[in-house]
Amino acid sequence: MSDKNYPYIDLIYNQQVENKCVVQNLTIKQRIALLKKLEKEIIAHREEIVEALGKDFRKSKVETESTEIYPVLSEIRLFCKNLSEWSKSKSVSNNLVFFGSKAEIVNEPKGNCLIISPWNYPFQLALMHLIPCIAAGNTAIIKPSEFTAHTNSVLNKILGNVFDSNHVQLIYGEVEETKYILSKKFDHIHFTGSPNVGKIVMEAGAKHLSSVTLELGGKSPLIIGEDFDLKKAVSKAIWGKLINNGQTCIAPDYILIHEDKAQEFVDEFIKQMDKTFGSDPKNSEDLARMINTRNFNRVKDLIQNAIELGANCPYGNEYDGYELYIKPTILTNVPKDAEILKEEIFGPVFPIITYNSVENVINYVNSDEKPLALYIFSNNKELIENVTNHTSSGAVLVNDLLIHILHPNLPFGGLNHSGIGSSTGYFGFLDFSHQKPVLKVNQMFSLTKFLNYPYNSFTKKII
Ligand code: NAD
Repeated sequence: MSDKNYPYIDLIYNQQVENKCVVQNLTIKQRIALLKKLEKEIIAHREEIVEALGKDFRKSKVETESTEIYPVLSEIRLFCKNLSEWSKSKSVSNNLVFFGSKAEIVNEPKGNCLIISPWNYPFQLALMHLIPCIAAGNTAIIKPSEFTAHTNSVLNKILGNVFDSNHVQLIYGEVEETKYILSKKFDHIHFTGSPNVGKIVMEAGAKHLSSVTLELGGKSPLIIGEDFDLKKAVSKAIWGKLINNGQTCIAPDYILIHEDKAQEFVDEFIKQMDKTFGSDPKNSEDLARMINTRNFNRVKDLIQNAIELGANCPYGNEYDGYELYIKPTILTNVPKDAEILKEEIFGPVFPIITYNSVENVINYVNSDEKPLALYIFSNNKELIENVTNHTSSGAVLVNDLLIHILHPNLPFGGLNHSGIGSSTGYFGFLDFSHQKPVLKVNQMFSLTKFLNYPYNSFTKKII
């Protein structure tokens, strides 16, 4: 808990608490109208969003359009199309004990919600979870990361044009302010960020017994089968890792490849990097930068530590601290005790680990925390089944990287260290609603008509 007081946070929080019932009673039509207004505002501010992300960490227009704006717009459209259906009460069948009763599941808004988002997809991850929150009939305080000032400012403008502050309000803040907000009683907290801060959020939620959804990170493996075309594998790996400069929660963290194929993979990687980015990838406008000096130094230290411990570096290990640029880097023969094999890298580095059997692969993955995603490049059904069935991860994606997050009908989320709960689409709507059972009993056949005091011989007979 913070030692300081923040009167403006109190003001917004109290307004939202007072306004909770009004928001909960918004009709589905009104909620959809707000989502459509949000869509319009995003489209109207498209250029500003691109510019802001460019200023925050030199993210390219293509990546901002495809990974920040597109997912949010398509989520809004998905909700506008399906909300009427998703929000309807669902009748369920009875057994004999409830003969003649009406049993249904009603989606009740949770109430006052808090959404805490990270810096790595600052536009997408603030709004992606606001959509189900609003659609389900809740208020929201959004606390974005303190490291993306330009994006936060556009977000604030967009939200201010769509919502009253007693419904949705963005609050700027660093750790102290976030701790202060977290000391308040929310009906639900949705957090996206690191596992360490996830624990702090869960502890804060526990004080008020608030429900908590955690979207965290971890070390997601990319397993390359012996059968898979290496040219394709390299090209997909380069894109999947370098998008957002490796600062993606579901980025492939490390590569597990058969020992007979490792050298070929490295050679092909260097060839494709040279072909795609020329001799100096720093000049490419497509590659984003590290978010700040702290993360630049952290990733640089991870690389240096691995090399000092004996890892080989056939490509990369070049830096420009002024530009927060790290050349995409490959590491082979990385010793087991290297830090880079222990913590989530969150930068443009590919440690390559070799295996010689499927058991090797499974044991390696299972020796670590459960990852947010697990990628398999292979057409070998046995390998795919074996790895999928003997490992645990937030999701499994076969023969591609990252794109499962865009699937409209699949839940997105981790488990344990990589997260708790599911977001996006219908699962996001459920996450921000309470599934309330409502049972209307038919008096003619009521269970308690027979099961009541005093217990007589008839009661004893039927029990
Ligand atoms: P972070 O945990 O440092 O910060 C996330 C949010 O928590 C920010 O708003 C920050 O201000 C706040 N925060 C930071 N320290 C805090 C503290 N001590 N008390 C209270 N609040 C605090 O994460 P980050 O560095 O912004 O983002 C990177 C992490 O997020 C990675 O681990 C990544 O894998 C994860 N991530 C997960 C997803 C997902 O959907 N699962 C998506 C993006 C990022």
